[in-house]
Amino acid sequence: MVYGFSVVFLVVFYRNHSAFDLLFWILFGVFFLILYAGVLFMQFNYFMSAHLRMKSKEVLLTFDDGPDPITTPKILDILKKHDIKAVFFVIGNKAQAQPELIQQMVAEGHVIGNHTQKHPPLFALMSGKNVKKEIEDTNQTLEKIIGKGTTLFRPPVGYTNPIIARVVKKLNIQTIGWSARSYDSFITKPHWLLKRLLKITQPGSIVLMHDNRTHTAAILDDYLNKAQQNGIIFAKQATLNAFIHEINA
Ligand SMILES: [Zn+2]
Repeated sequence: MVYGFSVVFLVVFYRNHSAFDLLFWILFGVFFLILYAGVLFMQFNYFMSAHLRMKSKEVLLTFDDGPDPITTPKILDILKKHDIKAVFFVIGNKAQAQPELIQQMVAEGHVIGNHTQKHPPLFALMSGKNVKKEIEDTNQTLEKIIGKGTTLFRPPVGYTNPIIARVVKKLNIQTIGWSARSYDSFITKPHWLLKRLLKITQPGSIVLMHDNRTHTAAILDDYLNKAQQNGIIFAKQATLNAFIHEINA
């Protein structure tokens, strides 16, 4: 059916456009498929086995793209108030700029994950050598700040492909995905974001948020209060430690 439509589309397109146009759009389509298919495939564990859910009923909060000098301290304060522990997938360059926030995260019982040194927008198109460098540079940055790297990795935007999978295997690190994506990069209205988070948070979820977003920091306290009223249990120190131990075993 899909192939049939594609053939009809190509014939009609070809009659109205030049072969060059056709080639352009095919290449354009292939480019986007390569770029985004891996993101979808992460959820199906197609290229590599990412950890997408907790085995226990507790919910694990994860924050990407920080640390941010304005919003990360607010998020840390709220987590402290609720005694909830999270994983922060930090960008190496930002960690370098805000080392005291990385130290604070660790001192307060959170876990640091590797989200590459520069968060390259075309990470899925990089060579194995450069993928490896992005991950290793981040761990070297972390070593300078907290004395050790991390075995937890989340690729930018959740890109996966066979090259990234091979590097991850070689470096013996664990890829952490998510089961509940807040889309807080797109949903900027605090009320809508809160509504979405409450809807997607289920027992055992790994929740993906960003600690460099003002609206995420703004609704976090409300979210934690309301979700806990709904019976959701967020990971505390023992759960987080057990999770880390289990995936590295
Ligand atoms: Zn990111």
